[in-house]
This record gives sequence, structure tokens and C-alpha cells, in this order.
Amino acid sequence: MRSPSAPIPLSAPRLAGHEARYVLECVRSGWISSAGPFVERFERDVAERVGVPCAVATASGTAALHVALRVAGIGPGDAVLVPTLSFIAPANAVRYVGALPLFVDVEARYWQMDPERLAGFLRQRCRVRQGVLQERETGARIRAVVAVHLLGHPVDMDAIRAVAAGYELLVVEDAAEALGARHRDVPVGRLADLACLSFNGNKTVTAGGGGMLLTTRRAWAERARYLTTQAKDDPVEAIHGEVGFNYRLSGLQAALGCAQLEQLDELLAAKRAIAASYAGRLADVPGISLQAEAPWAWSSRWLATVRVEPGRFGADRGALFAALAAHGIESRPLWQPLHRSPAHAGAPHGGCPVAETLQREALSLPSSVDLDPEQIERVVGVIRSLARRAA
Ligand SMILES: *Cc1c(COP(=O)(O)O)cnc(C)c1O
Repeated sequence: MRSPSAPIPLSAPRLAGHEARYVLECVRSGWISSAGPFVERFERDVAERVGVPCAVATASGTAALHVALRVAGIGPGDAVLVPTLSFIAPANAVRYVGALPLFVDVEARYWQMDPERLAGFLRQRCRVRQGVLQERETGARIRAVVAVHLLGHPVDMDAIRAVAAGYELLVVEDAAEALGARHRDVPVGRLADLACLSFNGNKTVTAGGGGMLLTTRRAWAERARYLTTQAKDDPVEAIHGEVGFNYRLSGLQAALGCAQLEQLDELLAAKRAIAASYAGRLADVPGISLQAEAPWAWSSRWLATVRVEPGRFGADRGALFAALAAHGIESRPLWQPLHRSPAHAGAPHGGCPVAETLQREALSLPSSVDLDPEQIERVVGVIRSLARRAA
């Protein structure tokens, strides 16, 4: 029995499948490092699940994004459009290749990169010079869009792709938070020619850390494999064709990942049930609303996140965060919008009011797959008591 006041974490992994068995098998086989059967199996299993021809396992999701931009040939002098509301990894990856991130606001309904804002940014802030699409102020050549599926909800990829196609921009999918989600019945991760996943500890499927690059193009997969293994041309003579990276996933991590992936459907069902439970129990609380799900979307509900409108709820997100913390309940605000981040100071953006509102008002609630109804009741109880007190 869990004590009724035991701390409730934001998102803890469930390791109740074949994790220990596969890791032990991996240890006994000796193939613990970046070669061996588990890495290949993990790549095959993920590719099959998502429905893409090629998958290259990487040391992290951030590494996968970095390499994705490299294989797409993006580099110094280039610019890449990124949603301002996101974990910082995609913007950092743009910097790693020497390019400039351009930040675009999200829409207010599903909190994803706003295709209209994207189109507006391209219309107003860009120009074509000698056949090259440039950001006006910096002259950087705009090459790609990194579309992030935020909090497990798919971005409207059809609309993003339509805008991108008008400017011949490459689209890269950041599906790190959304493995298992579907966009008009198509799994995320196969909505673009390049996509990235993360298997960090708090993601829906974890390998204890790790990532994967998914692609429709064999040549890109081969190039990614080459770059992630130190660009080694001749393993015997140790000849390297260029500056590569040590970005491969280990067998130990892949073994864990294989076991987790077997449970993906159960993990998704649990995440969705948690979100539905919060939505149901909070439906009558004024000023509290769960991130909505589009009619064309099937969200993986990575983190169940509510918006707290202080005028209607009677308290703000900070007060709710503090009240939950006082009851041993971990919650988390959304990321600082990247156009406000000191790490990306000075990067162009087209104004991002929606992201700024969501940063002030959104809070992710405990979303561990093993969260039980009593724990959900505790979280809901704190929210309701604050609402009542405020009323
Ligand atoms: C988690 C995450 C990543 C990758 O993170 P790693 O910790 O490097 O695996 C990338 N993009 C987004 C949006 C993420 O949430």
C-alpha cells in the first residue's frame, strides 16, 4: 500500500515488461556497446511500428536532430523555422550545424506550430534574392522547418507541409514527445522525409536515454549511420572521411528500448486514460482546461497539461504549482518560449503572443503510466480546493 501522502512524480517510467530480461541477455551476450543484435532489433522494431523504411539509433533525441539537419545539408548561412514553444533541443540542433533558428508562434487550440503564423512569417520577414529565400534582416537562407509534436499532440502537418512546399522548404519532424500518436490516421514519424524520436527517461518509451532518426531515404540513413559512427571510412586503418560524431546508441539501452516498445500500446492507453480522467474530473472547474485534441488527431498524451486562466479559476498557474508542491505533487510549467531564451537571444521571430500566454498559464500534471485513480483524485482535489478557496 502506498501512503496517502507519498510524493507523486511528474512522469516515472514503467519497467514491468521484459526490460530486466533483455538487459541481462544483452550483458550475457557481451554485445553491450554500439554494435550487436539489440541495436539492430530496436531499429527494426521502431521502423516497423512507425512504418518507415529506415531507422538509425542515436545516443539521444538531440543527436538525432543534429544529424538529421546535417544529412539534409543544412549548415552555416542557413536558417531553419522552429516553433517557439518547445523543449530547446530542436533550436540547439539548428545552432550545432551553424544555422540560425527562426521562431514561429503556436496556435491557441492545440498549442502546436501555427501554419498561418508560419506563412505570415515567410510572407513578411523573408525575400527572394537571386532565387534564394532569405530572412530579411540577417540574409540567412531559409532551408527547412522543424515541426514539433508538442506534448504528444500532432502538429497539423498537412498545413505545415503545404506552406513549406510553397517555398521548397524541407520538413523535419520532431516526434520526440509523440511516439504512437497519429495524424489523420498516419503515425507520427512518417509524416516527413526525416523524423526524430527520443527515448529519454521521461518519454513515453524510454531506453534510459537515446534517440532515433527515421527516414524514407536510404542514402540519408546511410549518411546518418556514417556521421554517428565518427565518419569512419576504414575501421582497420582508422581513416575518417570527415569530422563525425560518437552518437550511437548502446546495446544496453537498445535492450531496454526493445522491451519498452513491446508495451507501447499499453503505455499509450494508460496515458490517454489519465488525460481523459483529468478532463472528466476537471470539466466543471472554471478556468481549467486540458490541452484539446483535434478531431483529426490521436494524441499520445505524453504529459497531461492544463491551462489555468487566473481570471476564471481565481488563482494563477504559479499558485497552483505551489499548492500541488505543498501536497508532494510534482507538476511542471511549459518551457520558456525559445524567442525569450538567453540561449537563443537575438534570433528572429515574428511575435509569439500565444506561446507567451501558454508559458504563463499552462501546467503539466502528473502523467506516469502507473498513476492510479487515488493519486489522480489527490491531484484533482488540490486543484478543486484551490478553485473553491479562490471563489
Ligand atoms: C525530449 C525531446 C527531444 C530530445 O531529447 P533528448 O533528451 O536529447 O533525447 C527533442 N525534442 C523535443 C521536443 C523533446 O521533447
